[in-house]
Amino acid sequence: MPELPEVEAALAVLRRRAKGRTIEKVTLLHPALQRRVPPATVRALVGARVARVERRGKHQLLHLDDGRIVHVHFRMNGDWEYGKSSQELPRFARAVIDFDGGTRLVLVDSRALGTLDVHPAGAELELGLGPDAADRGWTADHLIAALATRRGPIKPALLDQKLIAGLGNIYAAESLWRARISPFHRCDALSAKQVRSLRSAIAAVIARATGSRYTDDDTTKLDVYDREGLPCRRCRTPIERVVQAGRSTYYCPKCQKTDKG
Ligand SMILES: [Zn+2]
Repeated sequence: MPELPEVEAALAVLRRRAKGRTIEKVTLLHPALQRRVPPATVRALVGARVARVERRGKHQLLHLDDGRIVHVHFRMNGDWEYGKSSQELPRFARAVIDFDGGTRLVLVDSRALGTLDVHPAGAELELGLGPDAADRGWTADHLIAALATRRGPIKPALLDQKLIAGLGNIYAAESLWRARISPFHRCDALSAKQVRSLRSAIAAVIARATGSRYTDDDTTKLDVYDREGLPCRRCRTPIERVVQAGRSTYYCPKCQKTDKG
């Protein structure tokens, strides 16, 4: 699942390849995308220029010069592939945006869960996002206040984009391991000190990421995610995996003791 640095990398592609360009054609190839956007709306994109691009949480927004917004979310597997319009389409191509000058961006997505929407000019975008995990203005004090009113376990809370935007399953696990907090710890039972370590851990985990896509062989760089049965990098205790709120949670039962909750 793309995490924040990977979405940042996707934004960098959009800045370099789409910003300032005029759309010549948009083609939705996957039925799920065709159902989302009416053909007339797709056709009406022709001739619009991409004025700027923006990331909100894991959402990608292409602001067109007339105020319309092309809104892309990769969900699990999406990515951009840039090339010449004359090239053969890659496998798993789901949508194609052709630009002036004969270049194009292809939304490739093996699982086809990624979304693309077009919002009319002046529409209020209600993305239901909390403060961005990469935002330095979002401090430990904000997180302390937000967690004080939640009774559930911390791990699923970290995936709630209304609490913190941009954190996914991998980084939530990595952050908790780094802060030595049990994924089962009740949010409102965390001490201020623990939340401060958690805020620093989130910042460190995001900063350490390179923006490259996580593949199976990339997970060797991770501290706890996908390391079930392997020794904890701190204390050598085997890492455990449980399913929590429908998602895999990896943790060290020794360093991340369930002492409360
Ligand atoms: Zn450990």
